Parts: sequence; C-alpha cells; structure tokens
Amino acid sequence: MATVLDSIQRATTSQPDRLVDGHGRAITDLRISVTDRCNYKCVYCRTGNEGAVYAELPIGDYLRMARVFVSLGIEKVRLTGGEPLLRRGLMDLIRELSRLRTLDGQPLDLALTTNGHLLEEMAQGLRDAGLGRITVSMDAVEAEKFARITRVPGSYERVLAGIRAAKAAGLAPVKVNCVLLRGFNEDQIAAFAEFSRSEGVIVRFIEFMPLEEGRLWTRDSVVSLREIVEALGGFRPLVRMAPNAASETAVRYTFDDGVGEIGIIAPVTQAFCGQCSRVRLTSDGKIRTCLFSQSDHDLYGVMERGGSDDDLVEFIRRTIEKKEARHHIGEPGFLKPSRSMVHIGG
Ligand code: SAM
Repeated sequence: MATVLDSIQRATTSQPDRLVDGHGRAITDLRISVTDRCNYKCVYCRTGNEGAVYAELPIGDYLRMARVFVSLGIEKVRLTGGEPLLRRGLMDLIRELSRLRTLDGQPLDLALTTNGHLLEEMAQGLRDAGLGRITVSMDAVEAEKFARITRVPGSYERVLAGIRAAKAAGLAPVKVNCVLLRGFNEDQIAAFAEFSRSEGVIVRFIEFMPLEEGRLWTRDSVVSLREIVEALGGFRPLVRMAPNAASETAVRYTFDDGVGEIGIIAPVTQAFCGQCSRVRLTSDGKIRTCLFSQSDHDLYGVMERGGSDDDLVEFIRRTIEKKEARHHIGEPGFLKPSRSMVHIGG
C-alpha cells in the first residue's frame, strides 16, 4: 500500500517540476556537445579551414548540468559534437549518466551521434559504460564518394566496420543518418535502402538545413521528403509505419516485405517545431533553445560565478520559457543562426 501511495505522491508532486516552454511544449530531450573538434571535414558541414572554435568543459561540469536538467524532467540525453568519440573522459561521462534516473525512476534513454571513424575500437566500451544506442552519420555507401565528402581517405571502410561493431556490441537500434544534397549524393537513396536491408540498420534521410560553416545552402539544394519517398518507391513498394512517439521527428517507412526501415526527417519541407521537445548544451556550456537561435544562454557562466543547483534550475527555467516557437528556414529575412552545426552539436 505504501508503495502505491508513494508513487501517486511522487507523480503528483513531481509534475510541476517538469520543464515546459512558453508555448506549452514539454522539454524532455537534452543534447550535449562534448567538443566542437571533429576528425572529418564533411564538405556540406565545414569549410575545411576552421578548427575548434569553442572551449570544452571538464566532464564533471557536463554531468552536473545534466543532473540538474534530469531533475527537471529530461528523459533522453544524446551526446554529440563535433565528434564526441574524440573527447577524453567520454566513457566516464556515459558511466555516470547511465546511473541517473528520470523523475519516474527510469534510466535515461542514453544515445550518442558519431561519424563512426573510431567506433570499431570503442563500441564495446561504450556499451559496457552504459550507452543505450547509437546513430552513425554516413552520407554515401560508395567508398570513393564517401571519402570525397568526409575528405578523409579510407573513411568508408572504417565507418562500415564501426557500424558492424556497434551492432555486435548491442548498441541497438543502430541508426545511420544521411544528409542529402542535390547534385551531390541524392543518387545514393536506393543504395541506402539496400544498405538498411542488408546491414539491419535504420537509415534516416535528413533534409539539408542552412547550418553549414560556409554558404552552400539554397532552397534548391534540399532534396525534399516528397522526392525521397518517390525515389524509394521506385526501388521497392513502401509501407508507412506508425510513429514511435508523439515527438518523433522521422516519418517512418518499411518495404512491402517488411525488411529494412527508413526514416525521413524533413525540417525544411515538413517542419516539426510544434512537437519539439529538445534543448541543446554546447561544448562551452551554453544552452541553445533552437538550432536556429540567434544567441546562446550562458549556463556555465552561472556555475563559474559559484551558482548553486537552485540557481541553475532558475536559469534553465527562464531560458526554456523563451524557447522559439519555430524556425524560419527559407522565409524572407531568414537569418543564419549564430553557430553552425559542428559548433552546436547535431
Ligand atoms: N560528428 C558527429 C557526426 O558526424 O554525427 C556528430 C556531430 S554532426 C554535426 C551531427 C549530424 O549533423 C551529422 O549527421 C551531420 O550529417 C548533420 N549535419 C551537419 N550539417 C548539417 C546540415 N547543414 N543540415 C542537416 N544536417 C547536418
């Protein structure tokens, strides 16, 4: 009896603590960039001339911030960068994060996004440290094309080995994210469908957003969800799948024989801002409430000035309250965000 009463009390008393933004959206998903260094120079992401721009914090500082966020209702944490596998202390961070519990007493949904270059050696260690699942970025399934995109020779073989090692280590489901650009890699759509089927991974196509270091993006460069569906349908009949959750960003498909899974994430042609549940923390400890924000909110500054956890809570609440209603990609007067993707954390 006591346990039932306890859990009712916990549910009712913890409810007001959960983060909700000024538009009524529950914020449950935190992305932490642990470095803005990267060992790839993907041509649509980086100019190739710039290196890291922002500082990295000690691992314990990310952990403290994450703890405070989790006390406010965060349930999913994704580690990213830059390239997170380059970050010293990553395993310790994962180990500690895996010990945290949500307001409902559950383990966090703990994930990581990587370019996969170092994954073959690290996959088992990541799993043992407590990582739940992994997303690997891969923009072509042809070795030469892939190396031209990453500007790193031999990268395709390494990433493929990384994906296989992640599967073997039980980092499931392994998702493979592919950003499509017109005239560049949209010829890879059917090959990725085959890849999903043969490798047993979920492939997700992502519409290109104006988040690059240089100035590549045009409306025309975006390969839209509609075009991707058409190309996939030409490969094999597609079957739409139900969303996993209300805040799901991907439109999901399988094929007529049920083999393979494809997600399409269409922030440009079918924006999902109304269901956004995300907040981001940059490697230097700034909160970003939207990928397209024009400014950051200096959470680390509060810590540096000796702020207590209550001060952090107060700062986070005030910041989340002002989260943008939506992005304005492609609209007249659109302003590029104050940081590019590699320096935010995708
Ligand atoms: N290094 C890790 C990786 O490669 O996955 C994590 C950081 S990377 C910036 C995160 C993701 O952002 C990658 O999947 C990358 O393809 C994607 N990305 C980068 N620039 C993008 C853009 N302009 N539009 C959409 N996605 C982008």
